[in-house]
Amino acid sequence: MIEILRLPALSDNYIYLIHEPQSGQTAAVDPAVAEPVMAALRARGWLLTHIFNTHHHWDHVGANLALKQATGCEVIGFRGDASRIPGLDRMVSEGQSLDFGATRVQVLEVPGHTLGHIAYWFREDQALFCGDTLFALGCGRLFEGTPEQMWNSLCKLRDLPDQTWVYCAHEYTLDNARFALTLEPDYPPLVARAQQVERMRAHNQATVPSLLVEEKRTNPFLRADSPELQERLGMSKQRAVAVFAEIRQRKDRF
Ligand code: ZN
Ligand code: FE
Repeated sequence: MIEILRLPALSDNYIYLIHEPQSGQTAAVDPAVAEPVMAALRARGWLLTHIFNTHHHWDHVGANLALKQATGCEVIGFRGDASRIPGLDRMVSEGQSLDFGATRVQVLEVPGHTLGHIAYWFREDQALFCGDTLFALGCGRLFEGTPEQMWNSLCKLRDLPDQTWVYCAHEYTLDNARFALTLEPDYPPLVARAQQVERMRAHNQATVPSLLVEEKRTNPFLRADSPELQERLGMSKQRAVAVFAEIRQRKDRF
């Protein structure tokens, strides 16, 4: 089994360190900055062997070159973003499976936030690293993709097993919860989760990772095809992508 460390960085980013004990391989997912990564590696006595980038934004690739220079690690990212990901060594794309020590990671293309966004799914370890595509109770802004692309990407992630831990790249959950309540203020599972998120953030606790089954149940961006939510929005029987686009637009203005 892999060991996963969550490192807070910048104002609301999370960098993850993934350690596979049999091989000793260690990966950093979306290292925005080098210092917390190097400190965690020193504290654990781990050697960084890989960087997994989900997309090219600076708060996800900012430390690629510094970490590569300090450790000689290999940088992995989407084939189509070779010109936008600093230090990219290994280009990957949809459906590709990579060995990571004794475990395997599968690459999923999830365009929408950017056109070259990918996610890393550790099937046996029940862990998904999805960058800025799916957030706890939210989803990424559409900087490059269309609502259709993002909805399809979210559906792809929604199809993964219920017991998948969602490791997203930002602590946006409180704001997402408050927004979600504007859509479904009386939906009991959401109300309960929002209260829990309020409590956790009041004590400065991380709300990430979350379980995918909980996202399926309460994340409004995964519920654009829910008859109950559609009715709340006055959009009954409309196409899910239109409902998704409406929710995303409301969030942009929230
Ligand atoms: Zn981003
Ligand atoms: Fe980001």
